[in-house]
Amino acid sequence: MRAQPKASHFINGEYVEDTAGNVIECVYPATGEVIARLRSATPAIVEQAIASAKAAQKDWAKMSPTARGRILYRASQIIRERNRELSELETLDTGKPIQETIVADSTSGADAMEFFGGVAPAALNGEQIPLGADWAYTKRIPLGIVLGIGAWNYPQQIACWKAAPALVAGNAFIFKPSEVTPLGALKIAEILTEAGLPKGLFNVVQGDRDAGPLLVNHPDIAKVSLTGSVPTGRKVAGAAAGQLKHVTMELGGKSPMIVFDDADVESAISGAMLGNFYSAGQVCSNGTRVFVQKGIKDQFLSRLKTRTEAIRMGEPLDEATQMGPLVNRSQREKVLGYIEKGKAEGATLLTGGGIPNDVSSEGCFVQPTVFADVTDDMTIAREEIFGPVMCVLDFDHEDEVIARANATEFGLAGGVFTSDMARAHRVVDALEAGTVWINTYNLCPVEIPFGGVKQSGFGRENSLAALNHYTELKTVYVAMGKCEAPY
Ligand code: NAD
Repeated sequence: MRAQPKASHFINGEYVEDTAGNVIECVYPATGEVIARLRSATPAIVEQAIASAKAAQKDWAKMSPTARGRILYRASQIIRERNRELSELETLDTGKPIQETIVADSTSGADAMEFFGGVAPAALNGEQIPLGADWAYTKRIPLGIVLGIGAWNYPQQIACWKAAPALVAGNAFIFKPSEVTPLGALKIAEILTEAGLPKGLFNVVQGDRDAGPLLVNHPDIAKVSLTGSVPTGRKVAGAAAGQLKHVTMELGGKSPMIVFDDADVESAISGAMLGNFYSAGQVCSNGTRVFVQKGIKDQFLSRLKTRTEAIRMGEPLDEATQMGPLVNRSQREKVLGYIEKGKAEGATLLTGGGIPNDVSSEGCFVQPTVFADVTDDMTIAREEIFGPVMCVLDFDHEDEVIARANATEFGLAGGVFTSDMARAHRVVDALEAGTVWINTYNLCPVEIPFGGVKQSGFGRENSLAALNHYTELKTVYVAMGKCEAPY
């Protein structure tokens, strides 16, 4: 098995196994080859991870932010040096093409380590509050043990995006990767250890849907940061609320992308393709409802069809491949089911719509698919598909499209393509979304906050804003005179 790690879990600076755990089979989605076999965590593994995190956290919190940041910075350098190896592993784990993983996965994890390592010495300051003769000050203090739970689409990135702000703020971190893509986080653990992170501060605990709640419900976990679907978010936030734990919820979406008549059409098509076909459409912030103003509809659809049909699907490890398979068979069946619903409910299939011929029959490939003439009530326009399926809807007026764009329970992201900047900002203000792009789509550099509103979640990842979600304030009132009392 070409990607078998030394053991399933990484606890207290070393690989750990418990053969009593359920088997997790890792499959390369492009061929069906089993690349590793891991074990889900038993209660004993969970206890071991918590105990080591607890033992390590207090001393870590006493270190200066500069000293903690230096370790993260070292880790960022090692990640960049090993980018090829990490990207190949990410491709095997997820099926995403190496063309993408080499630029978007471990490198964005390194960005987070570098950014939070660098800003920590200044960003964790408290404030001094004058109160006349008296005064007060605040301290930004860590929460304790933070649990990160990952989705399967960006395993290494999610591990780093959550761990970097949590660790630099003085917390210990336990990561439970998705059981579908469990491999990358183990390498991040190795790298952090090599960079000098004291043992116990970054533990990886593998687990399926049974092991997740063991961690979430553990009383020693102070915070849960989940990236996953809305139904999982409801369960995890509900369980955390029972013990009043802090939570960050990075959940699903059905984001609108609005293309006005005056947009640069080729650029808008690029945005729509990036926001629907990157990672074979398995990106939470994708602009899966593409609203196109009627004046440019024909031109938009004709060029979109030509460009979509030119996408190269195939073996993800081949540098020339632009789109790989979906992550597994069940995701492929789900996506094909939505495509059938789109056809049955009367959308026009512009291109794609099935399994390509010229790829491994054991792979989980689905053609890049575009539906036109989609209406707001169709299932494909309402539910998150999480596959390479773009829905194009028509519109006439700005007010109309804003109302329709917002008519969803989700609020993760949105996009607007126009050459009228006053209109762009007006639309941005009106859209109910955590992130909105003007004349581009899905760019998420570490400097900018990322997260959702409405059912897409709460809390923010990246940027200085993330540090607020991994710390709390301690307020200290300093009396300069005697304590006065009315009795
Ligand atoms: P999922 O909700 O099925 O699983 C997410 C994680 O939660 C997995 O690790 C899973 O094992 C765990 N889990 C499931 N039930 C649990 C429970 N009861 N307690 C604790 N843990 C539990 O999501 P997925 O299919 O892996 O990923 C796809 C979803 O993630 C999509 O909806 C996508 O939009 C979303 N996503 C959101 C973001 C974001 O930043 N907003 C990013 C990537 C993916």
